[in-house]
Amino acid sequence: MKPVALSPQSREEALDALASGRELDILVVGGGVVGAGCALDAVTRGLSVGLVEARDWASGTSSRSSKLIHGGLRYLEMLDFRLVQEALKERGLLIQRLAPHLVHPVKFLYPLKHRFWERPYVGAGVLLYDTMGLGSGNSRGLPFHRHLSHRGALREVPALKADSLVGAVQYWDAQVDDARHTMTITRTAASYGALVANRTRVTGFLRQGERVTGALVTDLETGREFEVHAKQVINATGVWTDDTQALADTRGQFHVRASKGVHILVPGTG
Ligand SMILES: Cc1cc2nc3c(=O)[nH]c(=O)nc-3n(C[C@H](O)[C@H](O)[C@H](O)COP(=O)(O)OP(=O)(O)OC[C@H]3O[C@@H](n4cnc5c(N)ncnc54)[C@H](O)[C@@H]3O)c2cc1C
Repeated sequence: MKPVALSPQSREEALDALASGRELDILVVGGGVVGAGCALDAVTRGLSVGLVEARDWASGTSSRSSKLIHGGLRYLEMLDFRLVQEALKERGLLIQRLAPHLVHPVKFLYPLKHRFWERPYVGAGVLLYDTMGLGSGNSRGLPFHRHLSHRGALREVPALKADSLVGAVQYWDAQVDDARHTMTITRTAASYGALVANRTRVTGFLRQGERVTGALVTDLETGREFEVHAKQVINATGVWTDDTQALADTRGQFHVRASKGVHILVPGTG
């Protein structure tokens, strides 16, 4: 591994190597967190890897998420313990070992609206969540949840309407700088030898019969078009998956439906 800057020069070198006609083991299309992760995973297994992104690293959904690294508290209600366990383990790894400079604790207030039954119900869920987090072996670094009275909740978030809650439970998850996180994974993949190029769009696929054997790409800086040959091509184009599959004249196995989230910012208290 040698440190690599994601510079115009390293991009040119990657494009020249991709255009050389040498067959790669893996070509990844799409430089969001999924594509960057695939590239890093593959290259650290010793495979030769190319990663091309049409716009810029993380320019798609991966810079527009809610930026949470969460264990998935709501999945506990669906009794999906395995998913929560795995997510909590990853959260712990990210906070403590993999990206402590990009992932930090963030506190949540769960407002309680019903007297008597809601506090024990929510409290039991959050207690289980925190306990599972501790059990993953990595999660220290996040404070334990706490119960707040009506007055305590309003002290914490004075902008709340006083009659909209009867109390609250405060718990902790984590938040990430998602765009930097994706870019860092991309750069790490490049440091291990992946050929990574942004502003490089896949415009078609090479086929031998049913098999996709590479892609036709365009360097959007110069307009140069060339073929990249690969044993396997990974479609990591997120909400553009259907468009990408259409380029290969195939319906593919997946249909991706775009989802939308709304982030409301209110004035801080401090
Ligand atoms: C509103 C919202 C909030 C979310 N909040 C969270 C959260 O808090 N925590 C969390 O973990 N997850 C969250 N997610 C989910 C997470 O953001 C996505 O799962 C993740 O970003 C998807 O990454 P991706 O790499 O699949 O897609 P993208 O990041 O969209 O990457 C796909 C890339 O493919 C490129 N591309 C497309 N076509 C081509 C082509 N022909 N050639 C080359 N490149 C191409 C695009 O330019 C794009 O950069 C949220 C999602 C949404 C919608």
